[in-house]
Amino acid sequence: MRLDIEQTEFAAAVREFAEEQIKPVIGGFYERGEFPIDLVRELGKLGVLGVTLPEEYGGSGQGLFMLGLALEEIARVDASVAVTVEASVTLGAEGIARYGTKEQRERWLPRLAAGEGLVAFALTEPGGGTDAGHTETKARLEDGEWVIDGAKCFITNAGTEMTDLIIATAQTGPGEVSCIAVEPGTPGLQVGPEYSKVGWRASDTRPVYFDSCRVPEANLMGQRGRGFVQFLELLDGGRVAIAALATGSAQGCLDESVAHAKEREAFGRPIAQNQAIAFMLADMRLRAHTSRLAWQDAALRADAGEPFGADAALAKLHASQAAVENARDATQIFGGYGFMNETPVARAWRDCKILEIGEGTNEVQRMIIARSLGV
Ligand SMILES: Cc1cc2nc3c(=O)[nH]c(=O)nc-3n(C[C@H](O)[C@H](O)[C@H](O)COP(=O)(O)OP(=O)(O)OC[C@H]3O[C@@H](n4cnc5c(N)ncnc54)[C@H](O)[C@@H]3O)c2cc1C
Repeated sequence: MRLDIEQTEFAAAVREFAEEQIKPVIGGFYERGEFPIDLVRELGKLGVLGVTLPEEYGGSGQGLFMLGLALEEIARVDASVAVTVEASVTLGAEGIARYGTKEQRERWLPRLAAGEGLVAFALTEPGGGTDAGHTETKARLEDGEWVIDGAKCFITNAGTEMTDLIIATAQTGPGEVSCIAVEPGTPGLQVGPEYSKVGWRASDTRPVYFDSCRVPEANLMGQRGRGFVQFLELLDGGRVAIAALATGSAQGCLDESVAHAKEREAFGRPIAQNQAIAFMLADMRLRAHTSRLAWQDAALRADAGEPFGADAALAKLHASQAAVENARDATQIFGGYGFMNETPVARAWRDCKILEIGEGTNEVQRMIIARSLGV
């Protein structure tokens, strides 16, 4: 896909930031399981967190394609930072922009567009994430306030210093799911400790509990009872974004592997000169390339206002598998060094598996694609 000047310059600026600011330090954050707040703030200043948000609130009013370009560039270097951006923008801030009232948009979007705040979107519960329509968290109206009770798990961005908002799905009546915004510090909201995760270790993922947590009635996000439809719509965009992120990881693994295979010698010559290694690199390039075509196609459809749900599922399914396979091949090419956390490909190996699980598992993507075929 040929990029225009604006897209080329934006992608180049994000790439430069990823290479010069993220790459040298992210390994340390990853090892410590520490959220790199300053890097996320700097990305905010670059306009990455506001790229899709309306210009009237300080965003750039660009579409999913532009966001995908940024996510791919960040994920080439590191997936933890990329998913921090992805979760906040596609599921959180986009939800406010699309379904929020004028008051909600005026209140929350300017800080999000400026990259000063983050949003967490809390859908998954301990009882299940795939069957998301069966949310057990409940919210009832009492004296002009929503009173929320329940628990959510695995919530990205729930507990950072930058978190402005947690948007939670809750049952607001029989068979009725709605989205409600809760600000950190609200009595009755408890954000648990960071999980010990296999990968994405520099991202913030926590359980969230609501114990008679009261928020104003006006914190209802969008129409009452439309929460399920809203998050399905948001997840379509989220899947394209995850596909772009996965493409970045797949490309990053390829770049690292090509450089290593040309330099590392065995039996007196670079390992790249063995056809087994060269073919592995060729397959890695193929996967990164087709993943890019898939996410960009879905993003262009989304930005044109065309139906893109099945294309998003296809892109997410293909790119996440490509990322997992490229991470596996990259660690193989790196040999023992590929198993050492000091190498970026080892980080990718740990990071990529979740791409087949989050934002709807790959079984869910297959269900969506099959449904689009009428089966
Ligand atoms: C690091 C991380 C960050 C996350 N961030 C967020 C977040 O910000 N917000 C949020 O809400 N959630 C988040 N999640 C949760 C994630 O979206 C869920 O883990 C995911 O949707 C799967 O849900 P589950 O874990 O409950 O698995 P389950 O729903 O228990 O599924 C288990 C397995 O069964 C399969 N399965 C289930 N039903 C079917 C079926 N009908 N046919 C075939 N197979 C089926 C699934 O595909 C899966 O393989 C995050 C998770 C992680 C690990």
